[in-house]
Amino acid sequence: MNLVHLLPVGKLEPSLLEDLRRAIPTRFGVRCEILPVELDPAPAYHIERQQYHSSELLQRMQALAGPEHGRLVGITAVDLYIPILKYVFGEAQMGGPCAIVSFYRLRQEFYGLDRDDALLSQRLLKESVHELGHTFHLHHCQDYRCAMASAHAVEWIDLRESSLCESCRSNVESTVQG
Ligand SMILES: [Zn+2]
Ligand SMILES: [Zn+2]
Repeated sequence: MNLVHLLPVGKLEPSLLEDLRRAIPTRFGVRCEILPVELDPAPAYHIERQQYHSSELLQRMQALAGPEHGRLVGITAVDLYIPILKYVFGEAQMGGPCAIVSFYRLRQEFYGLDRDDALLSQRLLKESVHELGHTFHLHHCQDYRCAMASAHAVEWIDLRESSLCESCRSNVESTVQG
Protein backbone atom coordinates (compact mmCIF):
# COMPACT_ATOMS: atom_id res chain seq x y z
CA MET A 1 0.00 0.00 0.00
CA ASN A 2 2.17 2.84 -1.20
CA LEU A 3 -0.29 5.41 -2.49
CA VAL A 4 -2.08 8.19 -0.64
CA HIS A 5 -4.81 10.36 -2.16
CA LEU A 6 -5.83 13.70 -0.72
CA LEU A 7 -9.52 14.58 -1.06
CA PRO A 8 -10.80 18.13 -0.57
CA VAL A 9 -13.92 18.00 1.63
CA GLY A 10 -15.55 21.33 0.80
CA LYS A 11 -13.79 24.40 -0.51
CA LEU A 12 -10.18 25.01 0.46
CA GLU A 13 -7.08 26.78 -0.75
CA PRO A 14 -5.17 24.66 -3.30
CA SER A 15 -1.82 25.71 -1.79
CA LEU A 16 -2.64 23.89 1.47
CA LEU A 17 -3.22 20.64 -0.40
CA GLU A 18 -0.17 21.15 -2.57
CA ASP A 19 2.07 21.62 0.52
CA LEU A 20 0.72 18.36 1.92
CA ARG A 21 1.13 16.50 -1.34
CA ARG A 22 4.79 17.43 -1.41
CA ALA A 23 5.50 16.73 2.29
CA ILE A 24 3.65 13.45 2.94
CA PRO A 25 5.93 11.26 0.76
CA THR A 26 8.92 12.38 2.85
CA ARG A 27 7.22 11.21 6.08
CA PHE A 28 6.02 7.85 4.74
CA GLY A 29 7.48 5.89 1.84
CA VAL A 30 4.41 6.59 -0.27
CA ARG A 31 3.37 8.48 -3.38
CA CYS A 32 0.79 11.19 -2.81
CA GLU A 33 -1.73 12.65 -5.25
CA ILE A 34 -4.66 15.04 -5.04
CA LEU A 35 -8.03 13.68 -6.19
CA PRO A 36 -9.63 15.99 -8.77
CA VAL A 37 -13.03 15.81 -7.05
CA GLU A 38 -14.52 17.46 -4.00
CA LEU A 39 -16.72 15.86 -1.35
CA ASP A 40 -19.53 18.07 -0.04
CA PRO A 41 -19.52 18.00 3.79
CA ALA A 42 -23.09 19.42 4.06
CA PRO A 43 -24.93 16.09 4.70
CA ALA A 44 -22.78 15.53 7.83
CA TYR A 45 -23.78 18.91 9.34
CA HIS A 46 -25.72 18.69 12.61
CA ILE A 47 -27.52 21.88 13.42
CA GLU A 48 -27.79 21.13 17.16
CA ARG A 49 -23.97 21.09 17.36
CA GLN A 50 -23.29 23.49 14.47
CA GLN A 51 -20.49 21.09 13.55
CA TYR A 52 -19.86 18.22 11.13
CA HIS A 53 -19.90 14.60 12.29
CA SER A 54 -16.50 13.24 11.29
CA SER A 55 -17.49 9.55 11.38
CA GLU A 56 -20.31 10.25 8.90
CA LEU A 57 -17.83 11.97 6.60
CA LEU A 58 -15.50 8.97 6.86
CA GLN A 59 -18.37 6.67 5.85
CA ARG A 60 -19.12 8.80 2.83
CA MET A 61 -15.44 8.83 1.91
CA GLN A 62 -15.29 5.06 2.24
CA ALA A 63 -18.06 4.77 -0.36
CA LEU A 64 -15.77 6.66 -2.77
CA ALA A 65 -12.59 4.78 -1.90
CA GLY A 66 -11.48 2.09 -4.31
CA PRO A 67 -8.38 -0.11 -4.02
CA GLU A 68 -6.71 2.14 -6.62
CA HIS A 69 -6.77 5.04 -4.14
CA GLY A 70 -4.65 3.37 -1.46
CA ARG A 71 -5.26 5.58 1.54
CA LEU A 72 -7.77 8.41 1.21
CA VAL A 73 -7.20 11.47 3.41
CA GLY A 74 -9.94 14.12 3.45
CA ILE A 75 -8.90 17.67 4.24
CA THR A 76 -11.55 20.12 5.36
CA ALA A 77 -12.03 23.66 6.64
CA VAL A 78 -15.17 22.75 8.64
CA ASP A 79 -15.31 21.99 12.37
CA LEU A 80 -15.49 18.24 13.10
CA TYR A 81 -16.86 16.35 16.10
CA ILE A 82 -17.73 12.94 17.36
CA PRO A 83 -20.65 12.72 19.80
CA ILE A 84 -18.57 12.07 22.95
CA LEU A 85 -16.17 14.98 22.32
CA LYS A 86 -16.50 18.75 21.88
CA TYR A 87 -14.44 18.60 18.71
CA VAL A 88 -11.79 16.54 16.95
CA PHE A 89 -8.85 17.69 14.84
CA GLY A 90 -9.32 14.56 12.76
CA GLU A 91 -10.43 10.96 12.73
CA ALA A 92 -9.10 7.85 11.04
CA GLN A 93 -10.20 4.32 10.31
CA MET A 94 -7.66 2.12 12.11
CA GLY A 95 -5.98 0.09 9.39
CA GLY A 96 -7.57 2.23 6.67
CA PRO A 97 -8.56 3.14 4.13
CA CYS A 98 -9.90 6.58 5.15
CA ALA A 99 -8.93 9.47 7.40
CA ILE A 100 -10.10 13.06 7.67
CA VAL A 101 -8.37 16.16 9.05
CA SER A 102 -9.88 19.58 9.81
CA PHE A 103 -7.86 22.76 9.96
CA TYR A 104 -10.70 24.75 11.52
CA ARG A 105 -8.97 24.73 14.93
CA LEU A 106 -5.43 24.73 13.52
CA ARG A 107 -5.71 28.35 12.33
CA GLN A 108 -4.28 31.02 14.63
CA GLU A 109 -7.34 33.16 13.86
CA PHE A 110 -9.51 30.62 15.68
CA TYR A 111 -7.65 31.60 18.90
CA GLY A 112 -7.89 35.32 18.19
CA LEU A 113 -4.30 35.52 16.92
CA ASP A 114 -2.84 36.78 13.63
CA ARG A 115 -3.01 34.54 10.60
CA ASP A 116 0.17 32.46 10.14
CA ASP A 117 0.15 30.39 6.95
CA ALA A 118 3.47 28.65 7.65
CA LEU A 119 2.31 27.52 11.10
CA LEU A 120 -1.03 26.37 9.69
CA SER A 121 0.73 24.33 7.03
CA GLN A 122 2.99 22.70 9.68
CA ARG A 123 0.04 21.85 11.94
CA LEU A 124 -1.95 20.45 9.05
CA LEU A 125 0.99 18.25 8.05
CA LYS A 126 1.45 16.99 11.62
CA GLU A 127 -2.23 16.19 11.96
CA SER A 128 -2.35 14.51 8.53
CA VAL A 129 0.70 12.37 9.31
CA HIS A 130 -0.96 11.43 12.62
CA GLU A 131 -4.27 10.32 11.09
CA LEU A 132 -2.52 8.62 8.20
CA GLY A 133 -0.44 6.72 10.77
CA HIS A 134 -3.66 5.30 12.22
CA THR A 135 -4.68 4.07 8.75
CA PHE A 136 -1.33 2.21 8.76
CA HIS A 137 -2.29 0.50 12.07
CA LEU A 138 -0.26 2.82 14.33
CA HIS A 139 -1.61 3.48 17.81
CA HIS A 140 -0.81 6.51 19.97
CA CYS A 141 2.81 6.90 20.96
CA GLN A 142 4.18 7.80 24.40
CA ASP A 143 6.90 10.00 22.88
CA TYR A 144 5.38 13.51 22.91
CA ARG A 145 7.61 14.56 19.99
CA CYS A 146 6.36 11.76 17.74
CA ALA A 147 3.64 12.55 15.18
CA MET A 148 1.64 9.70 16.74
CA ALA A 149 1.47 11.31 20.20
CA SER A 150 -2.13 12.09 21.15
CA ALA A 151 -3.11 15.77 21.16
CA HIS A 152 -6.25 17.34 22.59
CA ALA A 153 -5.14 20.94 22.17
CA VAL A 154 -3.26 22.77 19.49
CA GLU A 155 -0.33 23.43 21.86
CA TRP A 156 0.27 19.68 21.99
CA ILE A 157 0.31 19.52 18.21
CA ASP A 158 2.97 22.24 18.22
CA LEU A 159 5.14 20.07 20.51
CA ARG A 160 5.05 17.21 18.04
CA GLU A 161 7.38 16.72 15.12
CA SER A 162 5.77 16.13 11.75
CA SER A 163 7.62 12.83 11.49
CA LEU A 164 7.38 9.48 13.25
CA CYS A 165 9.73 8.32 16.00
CA GLU A 166 12.02 5.43 15.15
CA SER A 167 9.76 2.86 16.74
CA CYS A 168 6.61 4.04 14.91
CA ARG A 169 8.55 4.32 11.69
CA SER A 170 9.72 0.73 11.83
CA ASN A 171 6.15 -0.38 12.66
CA VAL A 172 4.71 1.41 9.67
CA GLU A 173 7.36 0.35 7.18
CA SER A 174 6.20 -3.24 7.12
CA THR A 175 2.62 -2.06 6.39
CA VAL A 176 3.56 0.45 3.71
CA GLN A 177 5.87 -1.95 1.93
CA GLY A 178 3.65 -4.99 2.44
ZN1 LIG B 1 -4.84 9.69 17.12
ZN1 LIG C 1 6.15 7.15 17.91
